[in-house]
Amino acid sequence: MPALSRYGKSLTLYFPQNDHDTMKKETQAIHIGQAVDKAFAAVNVPIYMSSTYERDLDGNYPQGHIYSRYSNPNRVALEECLQTMEGGVACAAFSSGSAAMMTLLQTLLPGDHVVVSDILYFGISELMKKIFAPLGIEFVFIDMRDLNQVEAAIRNDTKLVIIETPSNPQITITDIKAVSEISHARGATVVVDNTIATPILQNPIALGADLVVHATTKYMGGHSDILGGAIIAKEETERWEKIVYIQRMGGAVPSPFECWLTMRGIQTMSYRVKQMSNHAQQLAQYLAGHKNVAQVMYPGLPSDAGHEIAKQQMSGFGGLLSFLVKGGAEHAIAVTNKLNLITRATSFGGTHSLIEHRFSVEAEGTLTPENLLRFSVGLEHIDDLIVDLEQALK
Ligand SMILES: *Cc1c(COP(=O)(O)O)cnc(C)c1O
Repeated sequence: MPALSRYGKSLTLYFPQNDHDTMKKETQAIHIGQAVDKAFAAVNVPIYMSSTYERDLDGNYPQGHIYSRYSNPNRVALEECLQTMEGGVACAAFSSGSAAMMTLLQTLLPGDHVVVSDILYFGISELMKKIFAPLGIEFVFIDMRDLNQVEAAIRNDTKLVIIETPSNPQITITDIKAVSEISHARGATVVVDNTIATPILQNPIALGADLVVHATTKYMGGHSDILGGAIIAKEETERWEKIVYIQRMGGAVPSPFECWLTMRGIQTMSYRVKQMSNHAQQLAQYLAGHKNVAQVMYPGLPSDAGHEIAKQQMSGFGGLLSFLVKGGAEHAIAVTNKLNLITRATSFGGTHSLIEHRFSVEAEGTLTPENLLRFSVGLEHIDDLIVDLEQALK
């Protein structure tokens, strides 16, 4: 029955792509990698909790899997789904977003030059400064919104240009197309951390990026119950081969169960993300009009510095926003302590709305204002969220 096996590619390694790319994202999220199981006709891909796979009498591996660190059916299914949703040719999944970025940085050699956005997830800039800079890799941190700074920083021997847009936690927007053009003119590889936008709202490869990084921990998992990461490639370059080599030999890989949970989350991601964006827009407008809020950072606000570029490169503005509470850190923290529904916790992208005073968790020298609260809009009813904010901001 061809209908059953039409998308049954997740069980076979390296099966060529064909008609996947014409599907809409909502359909890809449900069908790519989600083959009907050949053994028991289960509609959901079973969880293959096996570390090892039997060889044939001729010494070959009948389904291509040898050992679960190299590949396993659940990880291949997830990788296939993500590469299709991002419009890439290959994907490697990792045990966390940080492990994905760590692997990318491990492809660098002493003396390599890297240009990085100065506003990005602080855990990643910490890895660069504490682990990789001492190995002789040079990182230059710049404001990627300023194309003059980009022009000045990228050299003819720059290996990577690393962008996060929207960025964390100030929700700034970088022009992916413009930075890609400048970078490519000098032979540099462009990497975009697309975690906050998700492939639903933004596709960096279509805008010129070479590699896309995700913390699947956030909107893909979508329920604050897993850690995961991924890198998607536009082309299978030498650096890509090295990424896959480090993934398989280094082993910072997700378990089959976590891959399965991530795929379960991805199936509803587009509906969650669109609803969260819609609520974030309304909440940003509400907060912007509040007398105890000094500033709202959200690209959906026409007054936001990133609004015009976000409108061009994103199909929605996302579910993450930040705002500055009037007064200092103690005023901001007091607001979080008064909230009843919105939970004081790090991370974002889950069904529960979360709020976090970022300054107190980030490293010394952070650019994050001390009165900034990052707000991950969840899937609660917006009226309940506004009631909670209203009483806490009084
Ligand atoms: C969370 C996050 C990461 C790190 O992912 P982990 O799964 O926590 O390791 C990287 N980049 C961005 C933008 C993130 O939000």
